[in-house]
Amino acid sequence: MIPVRKRTIPVQVGSVQVGGDAPVVVQSMTNTDTADVERTVTQVAELAGAGSELVRVTVNNKDAASKVAEIRKQLDDQGVTVPLVGDFHYNGHVLLREFPDCAEALAKYRINPGNVGKGANHDANFATMIEVAKDYDRPVRIGVNAGSLDQELLDELMDQNAKSAEPQGATEVWLEAMVQSALRSVDAAIELGLPEDKLIISCKISRVQELVRVYTMLSERTDHALHLGLTEAGMGMKGIVSSTAGLSILLQQGIGDTIRVSLTPRPGESRTEEVRAAQAILQSLGIRPFLPEVTACPGCGRTTSTYFQVLAQEVEGFLAERMPVWKADKPQAAELKVAVMGCVVNGPGESRAAHIGISLPGTGEAPRSPVYIDGVQRTTLEGPTLSDEFKELIEDYVAGM
Ligand code: SF4
Repeated sequence: MIPVRKRTIPVQVGSVQVGGDAPVVVQSMTNTDTADVERTVTQVAELAGAGSELVRVTVNNKDAASKVAEIRKQLDDQGVTVPLVGDFHYNGHVLLREFPDCAEALAKYRINPGNVGKGANHDANFATMIEVAKDYDRPVRIGVNAGSLDQELLDELMDQNAKSAEPQGATEVWLEAMVQSALRSVDAAIELGLPEDKLIISCKISRVQELVRVYTMLSERTDHALHLGLTEAGMGMKGIVSSTAGLSILLQQGIGDTIRVSLTPRPGESRTEEVRAAQAILQSLGIRPFLPEVTACPGCGRTTSTYFQVLAQEVEGFLAERMPVWKADKPQAAELKVAVMGCVVNGPGESRAAHIGISLPGTGEAPRSPVYIDGVQRTTLEGPTLSDEFKELIEDYVAGM
């Protein structure tokens, strides 16, 4: 069953709606120096091209803040309209006031309540950022992070817990502190005059079970839109699997309005991996299609050669290359199901269940590959032109969708 999402307060972030009845939004973050306009523009364009619907950039100093408007302008000149989100820590109150063109160019401000300042400064700095958000009619993400949790709040809750008749474990208090940090900041922003539909919340943690717990608590206690992400997920398979595990549990419960997969790229690896991973999570759960799906069997001793692996890879590459072209006239192609199977055991069955499927010959089978279209065997392919002919059949199928 496709999960039913909790209806949250919709928030408009530039041209993109987050929450309410909008689809779950995929976002990403650059890792370039924001002051380096050329590299940042290039990376934002790559992320947007891969399907990121919001892109966050760090705004960590005056150099960075002074370049944000130029980054926005160059992206607009290239026709890249993806809204930019500014990530602020420690000095956001100064930068947003000192660089009004930066405040204007950003579609949303991320505020980390743990990094806004201490004591009285905390409230004053926070208020300044909210005033800027009001002045420019921009939404704010209250982005709590386990690594930079408001220490004063944590100490306060730990003290209360120690005096309680039934004290809870330290982890439970720590999770409560994260939730309270977010909710108190949201209340403070509303008291300062920021409308309710200008607030998104996140509470990011790097451990899956705690992430699930903290977002479940949040979802029970607020109707504001939630941004999900396992922070510092790590590299490669570890990062993807951990993020998938955490986000899938929450999304399956109807929790989450926008997601980011925080992967650490391997040296030289494209930053766009995190966008593809986020899309794959949503697509696997049946929440949102992005690319035609290829069902391929894992192969076994019945597979006569690696050809079927090559074919599966070629078909996947073909679909990924063609989808951006199909998107304009045939957006429904994203829901296409293609099967590439290795032998007669499961090949015909999976091929019939797909829109279009091919079952390659296994050991001892005749060297012909039946192709099934909408559950019916329509033709048989063989020989060196098999791959090209199968791709042509896919192209024809999409044309008729
Ligand atoms: S479909 Fe055939 S080749 Fe593929 S895993 Fe199953 S038995 Fe093996």
